[in-house]
Amino acid sequence: MLIDTFGRTIDYLRVSVTDRCNLRCEYCMPEEGMPRLPHANILTYEEIEAFLRVAVAEGVRHVRLTGGEPLARLGVVSLVEKLAAIPDLEDLSLTTNGLLLAGQSEALRAAGLKRVNIGISSLDPDTYHTITRGGALQEAMNGLEAAVKCFRTVKVNVVVMQGISDTPAPFLELTRRYPVEVRFIEYMPIGPKDSSSAYVPMGEVLRRLEALGPFEAAGDSVGNGPANHRLRIPGAPGSFATITPVSEHFCAACSRLRLTSDGHLRLCLLVRGEVDVKSALRPQPDPERIRELLHQSVAAKPAGIAQGTDVRGRGMSQIGG
Ligand code: SAM
Ligand code: SF4
Repeated sequence: MLIDTFGRTIDYLRVSVTDRCNLRCEYCMPEEGMPRLPHANILTYEEIEAFLRVAVAEGVRHVRLTGGEPLARLGVVSLVEKLAAIPDLEDLSLTTNGLLLAGQSEALRAAGLKRVNIGISSLDPDTYHTITRGGALQEAMNGLEAAVKCFRTVKVNVVVMQGISDTPAPFLELTRRYPVEVRFIEYMPIGPKDSSSAYVPMGEVLRRLEALGPFEAAGDSVGNGPANHRLRIPGAPGSFATITPVSEHFCAACSRLRLTSDGHLRLCLLVRGEVDVKSALRPQPDPERIRELLHQSVAAKPAGIAQGTDVRGRGMSQIGG
């Protein structure tokens, strides 16, 4: 078991398979000039598997593949297949913008993927095009429809931004049409957009949601995320929930580490501090060294964000949101 100095069990690893992306969402990346990690620095699928075999043996039970855009990396289905074969790994999921999902959903499910989260922060085609800087909403919706056919649990990530994606009504309509869990997520100050103009406190979103009720409790969410207030429109197949990384930190219950695509373990999304584990993977994976670095990382995991925390440094797409 991996237990940190604050008594938290660390059993969840988010793995960024690439820092590249086919979109440039306003809340995640600058429009231009996003530095790219050199190809040679990106972990191979074999290296990711070698790391995870040790991590699972030490107590990791949940793995989420993310990025950048994980489906933009060639052969990600083969990575899913490798990871799904690791004994004791209980949950394997993926976060995607959905653009390439329609063509890969079936293969991902067959390879052993259990769940999918799709980032769609506006259901208006023009607004979607603007905030993603060029994305076609229809492609993401095709991905969502394919995912709903293949997976029992599909969640939709909505980053709430002032004046852009702060109208929850269209997303409630989505829960009437599809068995998805919509998660309204507070904008985190890790994005390139000036947070004072983008951030909407979740209390405000909840007030807007209340006006659209009545709702009923929808029970616990599948997975190990920090979603709360899970509700549904009576009779609707889908549900919605809120995630409040800013107004209500969930650091005390944090169970996760992140592996960046260039082989660094990030101990907390919002606090700088990474451990280089690539050195234990090259030239050949060294399981004993991986184990040591993993335990060292868990021991160094900070309590969480505190006032005055310096949240600059690597962006969401580089760390693996
Ligand atoms: N490309 C995939 C996607 O868009 O879902 C996976 C990587 S993306 C970094 C993972 C998630 O991070 C997105 O779904 C989005 O919900 C979230 N995200 C990105 N920037 C954010 C921000 N500034 N605040 C809150 N969430 C953010
Ligand atoms: Fe790409 Fe996802 Fe970041 Fe949007 S949120 S730019 S889709 S990595």
